[in-house]
Amino acid sequence: MPIYQVALALPKRQLFDYLSDQTDIQVGCRVRVSFGPRSMVGIVTGTVASSPHFAKLKAISQLLDQHPVLDESLLSLCHWMAQYYHHPIGEVLHAALPVALRKGESDQPKPIDYLRLLDESQLEVPEAIKRAKKQVHLFHALQEGPQSLTGLKQHFSDSVIKGLVDREIAKIEPIAAEIQTNLWLKLEVGDKPTPNVEQALAITAITQTLGRYACFLLEGITGSGKTEVYLQSIEEVLLNKQQVLILVPEIGLTPQTVKRFEKRFGLEVGVLHSGLSDNERLVVWQKSRRGEVAIVIGTRSAIFTPMLNPGMIIVDEEHDSSYKQQDGLRYNARDLAVLRAKAHNVPLVLGSATPCLETLNNALTNKYQHLQLIRRAGNALQAKQNVLDITNQPLVAGLAQGMLQRMEQHLNAGSQIMLFVNRRGYAPALLCHHCGHIEECKRCNKPYTVHKALHKIQCHHCGSARSLPSSCQSCGHHELVTHGVGTEQLEQSLKKRFAQFSSVRIDSDSVRGKTKLNDLLEEINRGTHHILIGTQILSKGHHFPNVTLVVILDADGALFSADYRAPEHLAQLITQLSGRAGRAEKPGEMWLQTHQPGHPLLQDLIHNGYGHFARHALLERKHAGLPPFCFHTLFRAEASHIELAFEFLSQVGLMLTCLGVKVIGPIPAIMEKRQGRYRMQLLLQANSRSLLNKVIASQVNQIESLPITRKVRWSIDVDPQDFM
Ligand code: ADP
Ligand code: ZN
Repeated sequence: MPIYQVALALPKRQLFDYLSDQTDIQVGCRVRVSFGPRSMVGIVTGTVASSPHFAKLKAISQLLDQHPVLDESLLSLCHWMAQYYHHPIGEVLHAALPVALRKGESDQPKPIDYLRLLDESQLEVPEAIKRAKKQVHLFHALQEGPQSLTGLKQHFSDSVIKGLVDREIAKIEPIAAEIQTNLWLKLEVGDKPTPNVEQALAITAITQTLGRYACFLLEGITGSGKTEVYLQSIEEVLLNKQQVLILVPEIGLTPQTVKRFEKRFGLEVGVLHSGLSDNERLVVWQKSRRGEVAIVIGTRSAIFTPMLNPGMIIVDEEHDSSYKQQDGLRYNARDLAVLRAKAHNVPLVLGSATPCLETLNNALTNKYQHLQLIRRAGNALQAKQNVLDITNQPLVAGLAQGMLQRMEQHLNAGSQIMLFVNRRGYAPALLCHHCGHIEECKRCNKPYTVHKALHKIQCHHCGSARSLPSSCQSCGHHELVTHGVGTEQLEQSLKKRFAQFSSVRIDSDSVRGKTKLNDLLEEINRGTHHILIGTQILSKGHHFPNVTLVVILDADGALFSADYRAPEHLAQLITQLSGRAGRAEKPGEMWLQTHQPGHPLLQDLIHNGYGHFARHALLERKHAGLPPFCFHTLFRAEASHIELAFEFLSQVGLMLTCLGVKVIGPIPAIMEKRQGRYRMQLLLQANSRSLLNKVIASQVNQIESLPITRKVRWSIDVDPQDFM
């Protein structure tokens, strides 16, 4: 009987041995095994000749696959990740699989439930639903064709859907994913603009490398035609009957993006994001694996999509923080894209208006080929950037008088305006006017955010909430005042001041779910709203051609952050925000309100642009000996008592102190306490990535067996992106 090594999704850095009377189970197949009292799904990683526990070995209960669910290249990517991120292989392999497969379901997708009209030729809205606005809306949506039930449920409530079904206007029908045998016959390249010189150079450079590995940084301001470069480069790949994988940031995956690709090539695009059901994701995974879909567009975890015949990989907005997984297996999908492109011998294009410093450095040192688009496509101009000194100025809901007047001018001219505040809620703190006491979350030691509309105060770090107090918890006085400005307050204030203009707030309170966001964005582009107020969400991906004024209320906090990446992120934010605005006949302007108008970072950015700022910031990193000129790995620990976290990290520090690796800490995390747990960090720094990796790998098993690990929660973050 052969002994199989099986990887299980457990936080253990080891494989488990099982017997089977089947001699031909292939590596990469899933099996069901019992582990203690549990039944688990595991992945076969190999066989061994003998096992120290031979007498006690159990048999594999069930073989789930005839053929491996992870092909050779994905398996080796997983083994690389386990080693590079120091993460248990079982968890890595599971992370690389669609959820349905992790649960042990068949790799053949189930039919998907669609809702379709019973009479598809009916044009008139049926009498029975004429008064029900939502049902009419749904009726019109279905007139465009049957729609997946999961997708519809993001727009419509169950009762609206049931309304149409009960009245026998629509019915639910399971439709099996059809097998696409004639995929490439459908390929038809639609109308396209003639590329400008820079675009043409980029397209030629990229398509010249088809069939081998090459990595490009496509650096181009928003609206410079990066997507057009992707489209025209992909064209060649598709004509070769090869597939393309495109990663986009969480927020950038809009129906408009997908439609643009579908329209150009007349092909269905496989979409992968978190709003889909497990089965729907499995359908796309399976189609891609069988070569039945030509283009797959997805968010972070789509990097694990198998492809029968890959031809190119693209990572759009490569600087976006959503590519980095921030818990569990802390991988960076952009970095994994490099490995996949190498493994498949295909070109990789990293695109951004504000490349992250690591990528830029790789381009400047010729590790990547650097392609630049320096003007906007068509005739659109870039928004002019300005700073507004607000020292000693009276502010109304965070806005200076001069700014309010400017806003009025733009509104009166019929344009849209956009305001950015980095805080949602009404105000970031509630304070007693009598004694100065600030209401704080006891579990996080941070001020509660005031949500006036909901009549509550909420901690934005752990989510805990209480009803809005009417008196001070410390002195009992009743005069509580808010401090600072959040989106809710700004919206309220502007609704009063500019009552004749419609405003819309876009933050995670007002937008629940991606679909709501897409609905709001469509309203904005239809011109329903004039004043757009929002957080970070506004800075990403969407272009608002009718916006001619972008106002950033206050971003000074980032100028003094303890995180060395804060200036880079601030510069990206400012540049991305101002990139949202303007088009040819309506050039835009961006104003940044600040108490630090002379700050060198702001001056450099405003006058010389992100490209100049970033090159300068790289020099500073070099002089300070910071990444990308050295390498970081962060040990994070949290515990019920700060001493435990400190003690654990001190022991780790002692074990890792060696030639060539600098140990910094233990030091408290920027968020020192969260959800009642104390958090500390130990930073390891080295000039050689492989040395750093080797040192940690040599100790990680011993660290794991330290008795104190039972009292702390800890993790390893390779190439950390923040110190929160
Ligand atoms: P980015 O991805 O860099 O933001 P896009 O590719 O979306 O830029 O281009 C911005 C706009 O300019 C789009 O409406 C696009 O259709 C248009 N465009 C791009 N390239 C050209 C070109 N060469 N000629 C005319 N219009 C173009
Ligand atoms: Zn809290």
